[in-house]
Amino acid sequence: MPGFELFGDLERAQVQDVMDSGVLMRYGFDTMRNGHWKAVELEKALAKRMEVDYAQLVSSGTSALTVALISAGIGAGDEVVMPTFTFVASFESILAIGAVPILVDVDDTLCLQPEAVEKAITSNTKAVMPVHMCGSMADLKALKSICDKHNLILLEDACQAIGGTFENKPLGSYGDLGCFSFDYVKTITCGEGGGIITNNERYKSNADHYSDHGHDHVGKDRGAETHPFLGYNYRISEMNAAVGLAQIKRLDEFLAIQKKNYTVLRNALKTIPEVTFRRVPEGGVESYAFLNFFLPDVETAKKAHTALGKAGVDACFYWYDNNWHYYRKWDHLINKTALGKLPQEVYDQLPDYSKSDFSKSDHWIGRTISCLIKLGWSEDEVSNRAEKMAEVIKNLE
Ligand SMILES: *Cc1c(COP(=O)(O)O)cnc(C)c1O
Repeated sequence: MPGFELFGDLERAQVQDVMDSGVLMRYGFDTMRNGHWKAVELEKALAKRMEVDYAQLVSSGTSALTVALISAGIGAGDEVVMPTFTFVASFESILAIGAVPILVDVDDTLCLQPEAVEKAITSNTKAVMPVHMCGSMADLKALKSICDKHNLILLEDACQAIGGTFENKPLGSYGDLGCFSFDYVKTITCGEGGGIITNNERYKSNADHYSDHGHDHVGKDRGAETHPFLGYNYRISEMNAAVGLAQIKRLDEFLAIQKKNYTVLRNALKTIPEVTFRRVPEGGVESYAFLNFFLPDVETAKKAHTALGKAGVDACFYWYDNNWHYYRKWDHLINKTALGKLPQEVYDQLPDYSKSDFSKSDHWIGRTISCLIKLGWSEDEVSNRAEKMAEVIKNLE
């Protein structure tokens, strides 16, 4: 991460194609577009790379989650299980359709803890949304068996782990639906964009229609199309899709760089007795977008994070105190602070998170440091960084 570091001729050529026709919309204008269908091509490339039957592009990762949920028939009052450690997009997408986000603990995978998920299931639960945070995955096998047993949708948020695999399947393709973000800081980027993948034809068709005002996309005259159900506009533009089309061709190149840089940093830290690494579930292969490690306690982790910053080692995160990625700072969710009235179901069913006990999450997140793995580092930069990180952590008071 992030793919913009290596923008080059491929991206420029794709964008130029779009500007040559001037058709920035993904639908219609057939005679003007010189045969360029960037969104359609990117959907095909994404489905192929992720080994699924269908892909649907939308305007962001957040809209991908929203459209995925509604495409599976989830709506007002339905409960969706999600982790305490994730990006705010998880509960935003759930709330956007009137559903209720049910926060559940994470474990040493930094993702949903399966036993806690099972305990949180009620008669209103419709879906489980693991978030494969920071380049590695939740225990998908355990989560899938819980979902199968309780007849729930398994929706994978793979926005931060594109290219990782579980049991040889690309992350996002293991559950019923998977979502990706192509925002500006992700491993492959469109500027702004997102994608949904699935093997379910009905979910694909629902997502296709819903993300374009409910258009059925039958025939060649947009104005004459019918609208089988209510929709919204979550379309991606051709300009963004063009950039993504160049980037997806480079995904494996980017993953190889991430793995190489990650390995240098990990090797430098692995001999330090105080450092342990995040657990990758059996059968999983990381995307290597981050190197995540634990220190013995909160105090040491805080000290290490501060010391790394002071030593000029940038792009290391201490999520425990982060405004956007951990439940402790989600006061707007906890207090239900919204611009307008929220759906009644949300008021009635949202747990009082100010009283929740997420000490199991705190135990792990409080000790975690995550270092972003960049694509543009030179070999010298990576080895200097590795040396500096090891030195800082060894010399903590
Ligand atoms: C980036 C991200 C999203 C949201 O994607 P946007 O394209 O920025 O809307 C959702 N979930 C996770 C885990 C992310 O990292």
